[in-house]
Amino acid sequence: MKIASNHIQKRRKPYGEILSANKAWAKQMIEQDADYFKHLALGQYPDYLWIGCSDSRVPAAGVSQTEPGELFVHRNIANQVITNDFNLMSVVKYAVDYLHVKHIVVCGHYGCGGVIAAMKNNTDKYLGDWLSGIKEAYKRNSLELDAILDEKEKINRMCEINVERQIEKLASSSLIQKAWKKGKELQLHGWIFDLETGLITPLTEIHNKPKQ
Ligand SMILES: [Zn+2]
Repeated sequence: MKIASNHIQKRRKPYGEILSANKAWAKQMIEQDADYFKHLALGQYPDYLWIGCSDSRVPAAGVSQTEPGELFVHRNIANQVITNDFNLMSVVKYAVDYLHVKHIVVCGHYGCGGVIAAMKNNTDKYLGDWLSGIKEAYKRNSLELDAILDEKEKINRMCEINVERQIEKLASSSLIQKAWKKGKELQLHGWIFDLETGLITPLTEIHNKPKQ
């Protein structure tokens, strides 16, 4: 109990500490490599696009142990791929057509608040609309989900279904289909992060597979 509360305290960094931590980090990086930021400023060549949840406990670079320059990132509530969302699709377009990323990862997480809100049929302005795809998927998969009696297990299975669904949507989007038809090396990966263990489990994977 004591350990847990200490960790929560640690995460509550006062405003001023964020800026001083940034200064200390920049200093440390320069001490390790005097040209670190000169090289960083030259350009980005990431191999990965990360589409993740906005949840503060699932930082893309932190859980994947990647350095600045390695991940191009888009995050939104419950890691949704909504193909008429300009924000997301412009990120995907830039990542695929300009940065030539080789992998797109959709990483969800167990106990996702967005998934839980959708399962409870949240109707808040903005939030309820944003979650409509998960609400539909929840209904479509009710046969499987209703058979799971443990509430936590049911939520976690829905979190997995949510990731799998986003990968399917991405794979059938015209943007990804076009890239594959051009012969582009591009793999889609659906992952789930477990907040209780810190581990990522791959759920699904699609390699260049143009529609017939
Ligand atoms: Zn989440």
